Amino acid sequence: MKILVINAGSSSLKYQLIDMENEHVIAKGNCERIGIQGGLITHKTDAGVKLEVRCDFPSHTEAFEKLVEVLTSGEGKVIEDVSEISAVGHRVLHGSEVYKESTLITDKVIEDIDSFWELGPLHNPPQAATMRACRKALGNAVPMVAVFDTSFHQTMPDKAFMYGIPYEYYEKYSIRKYGFHGTSHRYVSSHYLEITGRKDGESRVVVCHLGNGSSISAVKNGKCVDTSMGLTPLDGLIMGTRSGSVDPSIVTFLMNKEGFTPDEMNAVLNKKSGFLGISGLSSDARDLVNASKEGHKRAKLACDMFRYQIKKYIGSYAAAMGGLDAVLFTGGIGENSDEARAEICEGLEFLGIELDETENKTRTGKDHKISKGKTEVWIIPTDEEMTIARDTVELVEKLGK
Ligand code: ADP
Repeated sequence: MKILVINAGSSSLKYQLIDMENEHVIAKGNCERIGIQGGLITHKTDAGVKLEVRCDFPSHTEAFEKLVEVLTSGEGKVIEDVSEISAVGHRVLHGSEVYKESTLITDKVIEDIDSFWELGPLHNPPQAATMRACRKALGNAVPMVAVFDTSFHQTMPDKAFMYGIPYEYYEKYSIRKYGFHGTSHRYVSSHYLEITGRKDGESRVVVCHLGNGSSISAVKNGKCVDTSMGLTPLDGLIMGTRSGSVDPSIVTFLMNKEGFTPDEMNAVLNKKSGFLGISGLSSDARDLVNASKEGHKRAKLACDMFRYQIKKYIGSYAAAMGGLDAVLFTGGIGENSDEARAEICEGLEFLGIELDETENKTRTGKDHKISKGKTEVWIIPTDEEMTIARDTVELVEKLGK
C-alpha cells in the first residue's frame, strides 16, 4: 500500500510517498514559496535522483498539481500513475475541540477545518485547499485522512487548558490551550513506552520537542496532561522567531508606545522575537551556539534563556504528574545538541536525572538512552510523517472491514 503524506504549511507543501509494506520512503520533497514569486520544488527519490525545479505556485492547488506531475513523470518519476496511491494522509494544524483523533476526510471535515481558520489562520485554510486539490487530482475514491497537531493534547484536564479570562470567551470563541506538535509528542511518548516495555504500567514522561518551533508536554500513563503551547503555537518556550510566553501587558504596552496595529504586533511576536529578536543575529540555534562560543553575548543569552525555560518546564511538569520517570528529547535541537541537553539536565539530580556524558555526546541518529540516573533520559528521533502514514493505513483498513 503506497501512502502519500501531505504537510501543507503557510507557504510550503511538503510531501512523502511511503510504501507501507516495509515503511520505506519512495520519494519526498517540498514546494516552497507558494503565493510568492520564485517558487521552487525540490524532489528526492529512493533511487538517488535529486531535482530542483523553479516553478511559481500561485496557491497550494498548483503546488499539489506539480507534485503529482513530478511523482508520475520526468526524471523523478516513481509511480506510473496516481492510481498507485492507495490513500493520502494530511497533517492538519488545528482541529479545535471537535477532532480528538485522526479522522477520515469527508466534505464536512474539510469544511470544519476551513471553519477553524481563526484558530490557525496561516495553516488551516491552505490545508483545506490542499485537500480539495487532492480530491480533484486523485478522485473521490482515494480515501484521505486528517491527522491533527492538536488532537493528542485533547486529554488535558480543564484546569490545565483554561486561561484565567472571563469564561464567556471560551464559550464564544473557544479560547483555551490546545497545544501543537501533537503527532510528534504522541509518537515519541508512545514509542518510548513500547521500547522500554512500560506501555501498560504507570509512567510519567516529559517530551521536549525542540526545533525551530519548540514545545514540551507532560504525558502521564500515555495521555497528555499538559503542554507548553497554547491557543496558538506562539505560547510557551522562546523559539526561532517566536517570543513564547510573555506578560500579556507587554502587548498593549508596545501597541501604545510604538503605534503597532494588531497585525504588526503579531508579526513582532511571531517573526521578530525569539532567538532572532534576542540575539539580533539569527533564528537558527546552531548559529547561536557557534556565535556564543566566539563570545557573542546576546547569542549566549538566547541559548541560556531557552535552556533555563526548558529546565523549569521539566520541574513543573514533574510536579504536575507527581513524579518523573523519563525525559525524552526530539526535534532538530533536541536530537542534535548535546550541549543543550547537558545544560538543561544540569542541576536536576534531585529529580533523579543524571546524564551519561559519553552517551550524550555519542551521535547515533536512533533511539538512544543517554542517562545513568533513576529517571531515564532518551533521544528519540521524531517521525511525524510515518505516524501520519500509519494512522492513514489504520483508518483505511477499518473502512474496508
Ligand atoms: P522545524 O521545527 O522547522 O521542524 P527542526 O526540528 O528541523 O525544525 O530543528 C531545526 C533547529 O535545529 C535549528 O534551529 C537548527 O539550528 C537546530 N539544530 C540542528 N542541529 C543542531 C546542532 N548540532 N546543534 C544545535 N542546534 C541544532
